[in-house]
Amino acid sequence: MAHIKVNQEKVTPEIAERLASVCPFGAIVVSEAGLSIEAGCRLCRLCLEADQDGVLTLVEDKPETSVDKSRWQGIAILAECVGNRLHPITLELLGKALEMAAPAGTPVFAVVIGWQVTSAAESLKYYGADKIYVYDDRHLEHFEPLRYAMCAADFIEKVRPSVVLAGATSMGRSLAPRIAARFRTGITADCTGLALRDNGNLVQTRPAFGGNIMAQIVTPHTRPQMCTVRYRVFDAAPRRENPTAQVEVMAVPHGLANVGAQVLDVLAKPEELDISEAEVIVAVGRGVKDEAGLRLAKKLADILGAQLACTRPMVENGRFDPRRQIGLSGRTVKPKLIVTIGVSGAVQFAAGMDKSEYIISINSDPEASIFNISHVGLVGDLYEVLPAFIEKIEREGLVR
Ligand SMILES: Cc1cc2nc3c(=O)[nH]c(=O)nc-3n(C[C@H](O)[C@H](O)[C@H](O)COP(=O)(O)OP(=O)(O)OC[C@H]3O[C@@H](n4cnc5c(N)ncnc54)[C@H](O)[C@@H]3O)c2cc1C
Repeated sequence: MAHIKVNQEKVTPEIAERLASVCPFGAIVVSEAGLSIEAGCRLCRLCLEADQDGVLTLVEDKPETSVDKSRWQGIAILAECVGNRLHPITLELLGKALEMAAPAGTPVFAVVIGWQVTSAAESLKYYGADKIYVYDDRHLEHFEPLRYAMCAADFIEKVRPSVVLAGATSMGRSLAPRIAARFRTGITADCTGLALRDNGNLVQTRPAFGGNIMAQIVTPHTRPQMCTVRYRVFDAAPRRENPTAQVEVMAVPHGLANVGAQVLDVLAKPEELDISEAEVIVAVGRGVKDEAGLRLAKKLADILGAQLACTRPMVENGRFDPRRQIGLSGRTVKPKLIVTIGVSGAVQFAAGMDKSEYIISINSDPEASIFNISHVGLVGDLYEVLPAFIEKIEREGLVR
């Protein structure tokens, strides 16, 4: 980190007013005590550029801790189990870890925490990790963040992986920051891109400022480098013929039972809508202007057994629940088939669906950018194209 230091001796009322006026965050405050830089400073450096009088100096802070990075090796993923089954995010984390590890032959580890999770660990052996560490204990039956963090921290202390990846799921979001805090290291939440530099630094990419920029974040001074990863962004590791991983059952940390909340009962939540899980999606955009258009889209969705999703303007105009929005500020989807209707294909939308296996798009504008990422494009008025499309599917049974 860095901060901006003020040389109060050089401050005049005019200079103070000028510098305060360039700060877009209102973080430069002029008072009787002089000029001060407040907590709102985002280090955008506009004030440094405007400072012609040597009033401000950028001071690069020395890292509080600096670890011997050569002692931290490998990429670890925190597996997630639903009962004794692996949550699909586990294989996506593993897929990305294996891809990053391949060039330098970096070892890849998986950590499975829970109770009676042997068969989840056994099935994970077929997905390419070098070693699987298992914490299996009755007190880990239900996800309890403090207990799980205790086990993950025990693993990190013993194995010292350079990188730890968790899912940006309810569990990962609750667990990963607790682990990062224990090791006084950084964490980047909700990454949509990851790359490992030759020097071992992990470049963590995520949308910032509401998706207006893609921030690239590194954790250069501390280890492990930690992040949570968005579901459905990376390809799952493929199953291999033969198991590759060694499994090591770890002793759970001492005093595990005495930390965290006592879970008395677990109540099943009603199934929640999650378009990220859908295998077929019909996505509507602003080109669908009225109820008649929506009815056509819903009919198509019914025939295809699809979930209905939408672009951001369709949420903003109150026609859809925000959980149905695809895109940078919505959900990422990777269905087998997505049909977009009246969607222009803005980058913020495309970023949330361009990894779909098969994309069919209907748009009246032949230049619409959605066609650049579509496998099939139907140019025409949706109010004419959709009835014909639906009729053809019904008549010829193209799908299902
Ligand atoms: C920070 C930020 C984050 C954002 N995040 C998201 C996000 O997560 N998801 C998202 O979707 N957007 C997001 N947006 C908005 C995004 O930039 C676009 O504005 C939005 O995706 C456009 O939605 P649309 O395609 O429905 O509408 P439009 O761009 O208006 O496109 C409508 C399309 O319908 C076609 N059309 C019109 N009439 C017909 C017809 N009769 N038949 C066939 N086609 C027709 C038009 O040719 C046009 O291409 C974000 C923007 C910002 C600034």
